[in-house]
Amino acid sequence: MSEHRTAVVIGGASGIGWATARALAADGCRVVVADLNADGARGRAGELGEPHTAATVDVTDEGSVQRLFDDLGAVDVVVNCAGFSNVGLIVDMPVEQWRSVIDVCLTGAFIVAKHAGRRLTEGGALVSISSLNGRQPAAAMSAYCAAKAGLSMLTQVAALELGPRGIRVNAVAPGFVHTPLTQPAASIPGVVEEYIENTALGRAGTPEDIAAAVIFLCSPQASWLTGEVLDLNGGAHLKRYPDVLGHVMRLAEAH
Ligand code: NAP
Repeated sequence: MSEHRTAVVIGGASGIGWATARALAADGCRVVVADLNADGARGRAGELGEPHTAATVDVTDEGSVQRLFDDLGAVDVVVNCAGFSNVGLIVDMPVEQWRSVIDVCLTGAFIVAKHAGRRLTEGGALVSISSLNGRQPAAAMSAYCAAKAGLSMLTQVAALELGPRGIRVNAVAPGFVHTPLTQPAASIPGVVEEYIENTALGRAGTPEDIAAAVIFLCSPQASWLTGEVLDLNGGAHLKRYPDVLGHVMRLAEAH
């Protein structure tokens, strides 16, 4: 790859994506901050300054993703951070609510892999953000857990298909990281504390913890590494997931 790689960070306006965009820029990439949140993406690209740019994209809309990559042409690094979760028991969950999470976290990841896979250069890298919930179940998070488990397998299949063109495909699977996405969960008493109790390293993650691993996966130092889903959670996968539903119910009972 050239010294000035072009890197696209989808979901780059917030949280893990924003930390990754900053880290890629510091690593010498020309970064495209792409997000559903158009104002957020523009603001973040402005913070990075020249030659970094912004783009608007919705990973659930294939036309939107195709336009993003058609406009950019060849790219060296693609990091897909778009994702969200909702909370609800399977027996109560409207199918539209299930589909909305699957649409962003799994089908959106497929659409990104499809169009990034057509545009990535030889030696290029695609990194997705899976989750600890891709391997550890959490009650009331069925769609998110299923979508992230699917994303982990999609990563392996895409690595097989794109490997012959010299493109590496990996994912990181973070545990609890403080971001705008997790702020509501972090405000429920007991959730973060129980997560931390069930790690080996005794702390929750930061967006920078995840960005550092993504930078490695995109770098020439990882040139023989593909089809990997890297657990990044302070050792939480060695223990058990917090009882988020229990904390939610105790909070509801207290009000
Ligand atoms: P975040 O702060 O909410 O950032 C996600 C960004 O993605 C937001 O800017 C969001 O825009 C954008 N986005 C949402 N839907 C999109 C779509 N359809 N198309 C394009 N962009 C879209 O979340 P985060 O915590 O950094 O999470 C980033 C990724 O890490 C997600 O895939 C998440 O599942 C995964 N993850 C996070 C954690 C954690 O503890 N934070 C743990 C494991 C995995 P809007 O704000 O406009 O919606």
